[in-house]
Amino acid sequence: MYWEKEIETLERKDLEKLQVERLMKTLNQAVHSPYYGRVPEIRKAIKTGINLIEQIRELPFTTKDDLRNDFPWGFLASDKRDVVRLHSSSGTTGNPTAVYHNKHDLNSWANLMARSLFAAGVRDTDVFQNMAGYGLFTGGLGFQYGVEMLGCLSIPAGAGTTVAHAIPSYLGRLYDVFKEEGLDPRKDTKLHTLVIGAEPHTEEHRLRIQEMFGVKAYNSFGLSEMNGPGVAFECTEQNGLHIWEDAFIVEIIDPITLKPVADGEIGELVMTTLDRQAMPVIRYRTRDLTRFLPGECKCGRTHRRLDRIAGRSDDMFIIKGCNVFPMQIEGVLMKLPEVGEDYRILLETIDDQDEMIVEVEVKKDWFKGDLSFLDKLQKHITHLVRDEVLVRPLIKLVEPGSIPKNEGKAVRVFDHRKK
Ligand code: AMP
Ligand code: ZN
Repeated sequence: MYWEKEIETLERKDLEKLQVERLMKTLNQAVHSPYYGRVPEIRKAIKTGINLIEQIRELPFTTKDDLRNDFPWGFLASDKRDVVRLHSSSGTTGNPTAVYHNKHDLNSWANLMARSLFAAGVRDTDVFQNMAGYGLFTGGLGFQYGVEMLGCLSIPAGAGTTVAHAIPSYLGRLYDVFKEEGLDPRKDTKLHTLVIGAEPHTEEHRLRIQEMFGVKAYNSFGLSEMNGPGVAFECTEQNGLHIWEDAFIVEIIDPITLKPVADGEIGELVMTTLDRQAMPVIRYRTRDLTRFLPGECKCGRTHRRLDRIAGRSDDMFIIKGCNVFPMQIEGVLMKLPEVGEDYRILLETIDDQDEMIVEVEVKKDWFKGDLSFLDKLQKHITHLVRDEVLVRPLIKLVEPGSIPKNEGKAVRVFDHRKK
């Protein structure tokens, strides 16, 4: 049932005790870095000690800009010679940031990955294929060392794969290729589990992926500043992502007041590493918006569950006075059987008016349909999207495969408005 039963099912009070202990250790390590060495609150916390996890709120936040500004060595808390790996944010927004790991950190990360995959039902009898890029992006090596620790047979590519990891937007394209080759992934592969993550996606998208490939698809969340994948993962219950609280302290704050939100409310995820030596990061503002799910999980794990990421605070755009998250639009589109695997949102100024154009790929079989069918579909989507985001979109139906693909994570929004 568990990779590490004791730690995964630790009683909350013992888990919090462990967190406090590890936080003190982390602060003592972090203070060796040029950046945290300059933070008076950290020096003070080390002197007076921390007894309650809530006292973490007395420490300042760390932002992506802080990491960038002190590039390359400002956050390194150990001897350079101990560092064995560098990873970097894939640059979802702006310049990349570097994260360093020593051997202990890599081992701890691989263990979190193995624990996560095990929770999603992956076993050492599985054959694993990683369809994410290996490079600075953490979704390559992060999974590789995790499945090896778990004991799966990992193959670069090939027949017999039973478990695979991929970015959700890539899977639509993969499915189209299967179809073009006259293959049905449900019947012509041995795949039973997909691990999907690294970019926002909706429950509707997950259901579609499960249907297309005939698998269970598990949500995997992580960010390079907190190692990468293996931060939070769904168990076989598929009802939210357990966030590994022996390795991270998790807070959810109101991004404006910076105070904790009420339990169960959506806010910005803030995280502190608890088991990292080369580069501890304290109260990192992830910009990811989510909430804690209430209640206990049937699987018996005591680590709290996060709801799927609703989006990043910097994903939100305002058009005609309304706040819109791309995932609201995706949720509408992925429910419709006629809609294909890709879409994008263009914000344009037309005749001095700001407009939201949504390009939607239509599935091949439907795209061949007559014009009145396409006209009806277009009107239908227009209504559904308007009801969801309160702005009337211009819906443009396009041929499957015609939307340009991005290497790596999907880019959904293109803002060309005259400012
Ligand atoms: P990077 O550090 O460049 O790999 O990017 C990390 C970011 O990817 C996170 O902060 C999230 O915004 C996004 N991300 C990763 N996993 C997920 C997921 N399962 N669902 C939604 N967004 C995700
Ligand atoms: Zn669970």
